[in-house]
Amino acid sequence: MLVGIGYDLHRLVEGRKLILGGVEIPYSLGLLGHSDGDVLLHAVSDAVLGAAAAGDIGELFPDTDPQYKGISSEVILGEAVSLAAERSLKVYNLDCILLAERPKLGPLKKEIRARLAELLSLQADRVNVKAKTMEGCGPIGAGEAIAAHVVVTLVESR
Ligand code: MG
Repeated sequence: MLVGIGYDLHRLVEGRKLILGGVEIPYSLGLLGHSDGDVLLHAVSDAVLGAAAAGDIGELFPDTDPQYKGISSEVILGEAVSLAAERSLKVYNLDCILLAERPKLGPLKKEIRARLAELLSLQADRVNVKAKTMEGCGPIGAGEAIAAHVVVTLVESR
């Protein structure tokens, strides 16, 4: 079994959709990014790449490359999973922490978990999503950003 870790942070700004784990969340602000800014899928993708020793999403999808502007992070995750599959590896489970002061994510954990399971073709009991605030500390605590931490395990797919 191989373990990978992923982390990401994006700033909350006006005029963007808020998408977390592939779920569009009604909110007045959204995450800034070259892609759709889905901080959770970026952390999941980096964790998958990490476990497969396949680099990081910045190498695969450079934010200087115009062809990736506005790209869905589901495409990024799909590419990470494909690279793992090329190494005969598949996702076994994942555990995620979302750090956000606003909006309140507690009520959305179930939906995000279900979408992650769907995107990764996993049973829901192999996916966990936790939501925490920063107790008002720092830029996340001020509602200026959202971050995600993810740990993934991969197993041989053969
Ligand atoms: Mg990112």
